[in-house]
Amino acid sequence: MSPEVEVEVDVHTHLGEHGTHVHAPLAEHEIRAWGRVSWDVTTQEHAAAANSARTSIVLAFDAEPVGVVVPNDYVAAAVAGQDRLIGFASVNPNRPDAAARLETAVRDLGLRGLKLGPTYQHFHPHDRACLDLLEVADHYRLPVIWHQGTTFTSAAIAEYARPVQLDLAARTFPNLPMWIAHFGHPWMAECVATARRHEHFFIDVSALDTRPWQLAQALAAAYEYRIMDRILFGSDYPFSTVERTVAGLRRAAALCRRLGIAEVTDDDVDAICRRDALSRLGLRPPAPQAT
Ligand SMILES: [Zn+2]
Repeated sequence: MSPEVEVEVDVHTHLGEHGTHVHAPLAEHEIRAWGRVSWDVTTQEHAAAANSARTSIVLAFDAEPVGVVVPNDYVAAAVAGQDRLIGFASVNPNRPDAAARLETAVRDLGLRGLKLGPTYQHFHPHDRACLDLLEVADHYRLPVIWHQGTTFTSAAIAEYARPVQLDLAARTFPNLPMWIAHFGHPWMAECVATARRHEHFFIDVSALDTRPWQLAQALAAAYEYRIMDRILFGSDYPFSTVERTVAGLRRAAALCRRLGIAEVTDDDVDAICRRDALSRLGLRPPAPQAT
């Protein structure tokens, strides 16, 4: 870990190479929205970037409807023997064998959480198929990360993207830790209002370092609703980095203070960076590397 960065757990990092795992239409829409392809990272590049945090969660992504499949076995191979990495599975609940796929990912591949993105995977969070898959996650105590917010690709279904749509899942599975990525942007207040209702519901700050006004509003909302302790650190690597995310949090906290909207301090930012997200999510640290 570099001396100036003290990040305990980065709960949100991606693998996936352009052309192998990330295809059209999403790859084309990345160029339209950003002028470049960002989702293109090797396992070696990912492992090097992950040195900036003590532990990083690495996400598979089963989102064929938008052209992305980062397979569970690929993530499992990338995290095997790595003492800083924890792999999460991803399964589209619309797959007829969704439950069996998740069970395989846990039992045979050793993956330890579930990534869902209803807007990308084309299901509504109230769908029976979704609730059935969450039952499997609940059985195996797999924390669930939701991409519940907007996205640049028009191949996603926008009406499945609202944070409040997760209240049913949170009520139905009160012992299953879950969190919304990216503060549910641009619905940060709705995300905070949803998370606030449930002790087992968290939020990650990833991919907002380039949106200082949104991040300041998000932190102010969490401050006002008194759930600063449920904010988790996430970078969304390769879309951002640990270092840029820490800097973005400090800038947004300063903006909150300058505007007089919330007294978010540097100590609050340090607390987000140093939070023991693994224990909050019911996860054990990665096993030490075999020697
Ligand atoms: Zn992400």
